[in-house]
Amino acid sequence: MGTYRQTVVDLDAPAQEAVAWGERGRGWLEAEGFIRPVPWRGEVVHLAGPRWREVVDLVAWDWRARIKELEEEPGDEVRVVAGRAVFFAGAGDSTSPVCPHCRNTTSDWSSAAINTWYATGAADLDCPACGRRAPLPDWDWTGDYFAFAHLGFEFDDWPTLRPDFTAALGRALGHRIRVLRGKI
Ligand SMILES: [Zn+2]
Repeated sequence: MGTYRQTVVDLDAPAQEAVAWGERGRGWLEAEGFIRPVPWRGEVVHLAGPRWREVVDLVAWDWRARIKELEEEPGDEVRVVAGRAVFFAGAGDSTSPVCPHCRNTTSDWSSAAINTWYATGAADLDCPACGRRAPLPDWDWTGDYFAFAHLGFEFDDWPTLRPDFTAALGRALGHRIRVLRGKI
């Protein structure tokens, strides 16, 4: 089974301001009615709001064959992850970096750069195709597998989020986003 997690990663939120940008994004989601705050064990969690159906692809959810799917809301909370993080799409999938300069995909790279970035907040990758070097967060990844960033919005066990919704969240933040999807 596992959890189907979709993470909308903010690629531009600076480390020092990630918490504030996270609150801004959550505020927008709540104001739009896409999530709602719910008291839980002395804290507040955020579950699907009254307009959650507008942000998901319910047709793609039909495979679950839930008779009452239109009445049910997605089960798990929406979490804001603020702070340096290696976001990844799913366990065990393979991916390759795509050079931000020449757009070539390379299989010749060392995952040690990931550890370095997580430990220090800075790491570069060399492109064997064009010979140039670029910071790890600037690279794309096949299958949108990785994002090296400081802010992410995790939707657990939601139906597939619509691209126009994730784009609107990016516009609300004024930042570039990347959407990661996979079983964790
Ligand atoms: Zn290159």
